[in-house]
Amino acid sequence: MRFDRGLKWRHPHVSGALALKVGCCALLALLWAGFERDAAPAVTEFSVAQALSLADAGLVDASLAPMDIAGNAIEVIVRRNDTLDQIFRKLQLSLADLASLRALPDLRATLDRLRPGEALKFFHDGAGQLLGLERQLSESERLTVERASDGFQAHIIENPLERDVRTAEGTITSSLFEAAQAAGISDQTAIAIADVFAWDIDFVLNVRSGDRFVVTYEKLSQDGEYLRDGALLAVKFVNQGREYRAVRYVDPEGHARYFTPEGRSLRKAFLRAPLEFTRVSSRFNPNRKHPVLNRIRAHRGVDYAAPTGTPVRAAGDGRVQFRGIKGGYGNVVELSHANGVVTVYGHMSRFAKRLRSGQRVTQGEVIGYVGQSGLATGPHLHYEYRQNGAYKDPQKVKLPNADPLPAALLADFHAQTSRLLAGLDQGAQAAGGPAAVAAR
Ligand SMILES: [Zn+2]
Repeated sequence: MRFDRGLKWRHPHVSGALALKVGCCALLALLWAGFERDAAPAVTEFSVAQALSLADAGLVDASLAPMDIAGNAIEVIVRRNDTLDQIFRKLQLSLADLASLRALPDLRATLDRLRPGEALKFFHDGAGQLLGLERQLSESERLTVERASDGFQAHIIENPLERDVRTAEGTITSSLFEAAQAAGISDQTAIAIADVFAWDIDFVLNVRSGDRFVVTYEKLSQDGEYLRDGALLAVKFVNQGREYRAVRYVDPEGHARYFTPEGRSLRKAFLRAPLEFTRVSSRFNPNRKHPVLNRIRAHRGVDYAAPTGTPVRAAGDGRVQFRGIKGGYGNVVELSHANGVVTVYGHMSRFAKRLRSGQRVTQGEVIGYVGQSGLATGPHLHYEYRQNGAYKDPQKVKLPNADPLPAALLADFHAQTSRLLAGLDQGAQAAGGPAAVAAR
């Protein structure tokens, strides 16, 4: 067996878009296979009976495989708990062939762990003899096994992802998502921006029209076609005139985390908002005045209007000091944290399963769900932050900075990040090329 690495996989016919469902259009598949035969001689032959019986067995999803391997091709979509052994039996393929596949060094491990939903492609001679198989191992690696005169030969064909680094900027007029979209940035990267600053900025309530951002991130493509955004590398966000910056740093152990330009972690003891902004209203309007929902008592907290059932997360690590019903708060959870801080989450529709008094919770853990229990005129979360009994504005309370990077890493940190950070100030004009950043 040999493994050829570095080969570029290119086949014009194999693509998800061309995979036809045999179950619903076996005839079309046959027609297409016949048509395809003119273009590439060694292609699919497939009987209707075979197609239908396999479809009935729920095994076949697509039949078309204009491949270099000669013979009939069958594509199988792996279901939960499927094993290669079962699949070989259902396809009536030789179990002796399976045994010789498994006997190949390295191949057994590559073949034995199937992922539900993945596609395996088998090539056979119509009489049960396996001629080859194909499996996508990862986004960029495809395994092909072919029968040769002296047994099976396996190859791994690599088709690496291309990484481009892009810098873009936007100004918020209606929402972060819309500003991102206008700048050609995906929702995925917009969410990443909010996640990076979750300890500094309340993206649910405090993003305003006129807030600005500059972001440098990876765009991943394959064969020249855009796939998705990759890592967020650096970002600057100006929230109500105050500027926040973050940069991604990969430490020598390979862990990627975000830091301020000075090398301080962005993580802090408390999240600014106990709700994920995407779950609240993904197209929220920062110009809209927040509705006054509950003015029964002097208001000492922050109200987050959100649909009933929206998950509520613990703002910081702590312990449940109360979980139950309390007057106007309705279903309420109180968490006690270090340094005399207590956070309170009221009007919930229900608590997280298994949440009990005395229990420890970690930051971001779901503790309950938005509702309108107690004195509430609509579904919302009432959130309070108290320190030694005094009510504080959770959006303004100063949070201690987390520990900085160890001094030994600072030189490496600055070497990796200074260019990215400088790029934020140059803005979108400084859009980096493919080799602008050596991302580890
Ligand atoms: Zn309230």
